[in-house]
Amino acid sequence: MEKRHINRRIEQMRAEGTKFRTGVEIGRDMPATALRKRYDAVVLAVGATTARDLPVPGRELKGIHQAMEYLPLANKVQEGDYVAPPISAEGKHVVVIGGGDTGADCVGTAHRQGAASVTQLEIMPRPGEERDPVAQPWPTFPMLYKVTSAHEEGGERVYSVSTTHFEGDEDGNVQWLHMSEVEFVDGRPAPKPGTERKIPAQLVTLAMGFTGTDRENGLVDQFGLELDERGNIARDADFQTNVPGVFVAGDAGRGQSLIVWAIAEGRSAARGCDRYLTGASELPAPIRPTDRALTV
Ligand SMILES: Cc1cc2nc3c(=O)[nH]c(=O)nc-3n(C[C@H](O)[C@H](O)[C@H](O)COP(=O)(O)OP(=O)(O)OC[C@H]3O[C@@H](n4cnc5c(N)ncnc54)[C@H](O)[C@@H]3O)c2cc1C
Repeated sequence: MEKRHINRRIEQMRAEGTKFRTGVEIGRDMPATALRKRYDAVVLAVGATTARDLPVPGRELKGIHQAMEYLPLANKVQEGDYVAPPISAEGKHVVVIGGGDTGADCVGTAHRQGAASVTQLEIMPRPGEERDPVAQPWPTFPMLYKVTSAHEEGGERVYSVSTTHFEGDEDGNVQWLHMSEVEFVDGRPAPKPGTERKIPAQLVTLAMGFTGTDRENGLVDQFGLELDERGNIARDADFQTNVPGVFVAGDAGRGQSLIVWAIAEGRSAARGCDRYLTGASELPAPIRPTDRALTV
């Protein structure tokens, strides 16, 4: 989305009375307790930013980055914050590990930066192009083979493979990615003997999903928040956490999802918050915390 749309909305919210304080990380820069003392209600919309890692030999080599270390820097170049991206794909053989939307963003960004080649690896088999009426009957969301605009720009997509290790040069820079094909045994991926191979990899981005909200910055512990079994902040039907007056909306409560869900969650949490503060609310609640299909 063009940034002018975001800027216009921020200006509107400022004019309505919202105060934005950037560069303040609750938990590290300001304790949650201070926030709690100062405000009658708090809505946490802190996202689900803990990225899944790949603990294989060679992971420590230079040139292997989480997608969210790589992508925001590329955005900052577009914003004029950097002349050149601090992590660049220019002239490099790039491997993106993870076949989802975050991986697709890495593929597109690497191409725009002038990568020599871009290969996207996915551990799961290639999805079908049409809904399987038995495994994924309507209205369940079907897992289909998607060609995003980033994929239209090029690159190779390899399915049913798993990275075994990385190999570097004498300066500690990643040079090769070793992988093998996998088959699923009792629902778990197992390497197929004899299928090992290596591909050139001078920049590797990890885009293997997110495991929940940040547990390192202290926010969860300082508020005394309970998490659900998936590592997200647990909440009740009013989007309220186990701490009265503390609400949660968006990825922090739902897990890494989509913008439309975050918007709907924000509106529903606002209603819960209003009810908590005033005893009633006329605000709409487009969704419940447990909803998994949008019907608004
Ligand atoms: C690479 C990538 C590509 C995506 N592409 C799409 C897409 O094309 N379409 C789509 O619909 N969705 C996409 N998503 C998902 C979408 O970005 C999220 O679902 C959505 O942004 C969730 O909104 P949110 O407000 O809950 O959390 P976020 O947008 O993650 O916002 C959380 C904010 O809280 C801040 N924060 C975190 N902790 C603290 C703290 N302790 N103190 C203060 N601030 C804190 C963070 O800095 C961040 O600004 C993508 C996600 C990723 C990672």
